[in-house]
Amino acid sequence: MALNANEIRLVIHLEGGLVQAVYSNSSAPVWVAIQDFDIEGADGDEIATLDDGTEFVGHIEATLHNDSHVADVFAAFDEEYPVIDKQQENYVARDGQFCPNCGGNNIQANVGIEADGLSAWGRVGCSDCESTWMDQYRLVGFDNLEATPLNAISSVAEIFAHELS
Ligand SMILES: [Zn+2]
Repeated sequence: MALNANEIRLVIHLEGGLVQAVYSNSSAPVWVAIQDFDIEGADGDEIATLDDGTEFVGHIEATLHNDSHVADVFAAFDEEYPVIDKQQENYVARDGQFCPNCGGNNIQANVGIEADGLSAWGRVGCSDCESTWMDQYRLVGFDNLEATPLNAISSVAEIFAHELS
């Protein structure tokens, strides 16, 4: 398995076939829906129904963020574990508002952002120690679309009919 520090690994803790907890190595909010099609003996109010009528029992769990527990369990399977860079994690947790070199918050981000597909970079400098670095961004969506009316696109047949008339 290739190591990727961004990948999210989960540990699902079962006891007697019941999910007790889901642990994650990510601080991102992850919600897990548990779906068990073995509904024998389940109370009516525990049963959920899909649009197509399929019944199941289950519930929704939020994952518990616990790096070391997830690392321990994956290690028990001899899985290598991507090292989470604490400095990077802190930088993101604090919205990139400090210098990764001297820790100062006297930083200037350039407005210009270079983008390439899903990724973008913006240069940042520290006024205290004069270090520079690139903030990394990832495309997550768009906002504030100011849409213009779309002209109906004429079919080729319509254009010909128009030219002949
Ligand atoms: Zn600095």
